[in-house]
Amino acid sequence: MLADSYGRVATDLRVSLTDRCNLRCSYCMPPEGLEWLPKDEVLTDDEVNRLIRIGVTMLGIEEIRFTGGEPLLRRGLTGIVAASTALRPRPQTALTTNGIGLARTAPALAEAGLDRVNVSLDTLRPDVFERLARRRRLPDVLEGMAGAATAGLTPVKVNTVLMRDVNDAEAPDLLRYCLDHGYQLRFIEQMPLDAQHGWRRDTMVTADEILDRLGAAYRLDPADDHTRGSAPAELFYVDGGPETVGVIGSVTRPFCGACDRVRLTAEGEIRNCLFAREESDLRAPLRSGATDEEIAERWRAAVASKLPGHGINDPSFLQPSRPMSAIGG
Ligand code: SAM
Ligand code: SF4
Repeated sequence: MLADSYGRVATDLRVSLTDRCNLRCSYCMPPEGLEWLPKDEVLTDDEVNRLIRIGVTMLGIEEIRFTGGEPLLRRGLTGIVAASTALRPRPQTALTTNGIGLARTAPALAEAGLDRVNVSLDTLRPDVFERLARRRRLPDVLEGMAGAATAGLTPVKVNTVLMRDVNDAEAPDLLRYCLDHGYQLRFIEQMPLDAQHGWRRDTMVTADEILDRLGAAYRLDPADDHTRGSAPAELFYVDGGPETVGVIGSVTRPFCGACDRVRLTAEGEIRNCLFAREESDLRAPLRSGATDEEIAERWRAAVASKLPGHGINDPSFLQPSRPMSAIGG
């Protein structure tokens, strides 16, 4: 098991397959992009597959989410998904993506056994998309979502980050769009994880504000299973249900006490928290002939030292040097 000293057990592995991306969302990356990892520093498909196998068969990992950067840019993605779903016990598998190219790849991903996708969509307006993501790709994202639904990667979940005076007024329209298409929308509070360090507590759009905006257009009732458990989204029935909308208040309503996640970066570092300031390298032991048990032991130690919370609300909080795109959200 991957247990920490506060009694939490990590069963949900987030695997970043690349730090590269074809968008430049302003809450994540600067317009010019970042210095990408050299190819030889990125784990190979075989290395990723071995670590996932160790996680699932030796360390109690039950769910794997592939992310990035943009995971659809990873050439070996389908093979990695297939290797994961062939493991026993079979882990649940999911993909977090910006949706570009998903319309084309969704059938192969479904064939490889992928269970679900989360697609990030922050606006329905092409001009706002271009301002926010600095690329003209909104139609590709919408096609990707539709393609995922057609391929059976359901329920399609949609992640939205609201930015003040950019897309915050669109919250009700985004919910209408998702309800009309059968997608499950979750709003995520913006976190201090952008490479440019542009996040500001006094301008971030809070969970309370998101609920106020939605509440002006819909009746929201806390869903029966309101206890969040380890799921960070607080769910609300929309206009009496059964459809729901989620709000993930990572900053103002933290859920660190129930966190069951651990992250593997594209170059093989284990991060026990999005906001961790320390990491544990598994690539060096992988490449120097370590046994599965030696790697598992290093991984256990990395999780054991997990801190009780992210500390964003402490005066001494320091943003991690790694931005979201290089961690794996
Ligand atoms: N490129 C893929 C995508 O956008 O879905 C996967 C990686 S992205 C880092 C994963 C998720 O993190 C996305 O839903 C994105 O909106 C979210 N994200 C990125 N930066 C964030 C930030 N500063 N605060 C909150 N969420 C953020
Ligand atoms: Fe790329 Fe995802 Fe970051 Fe947007 S949020 S820049 S799509 S990694």
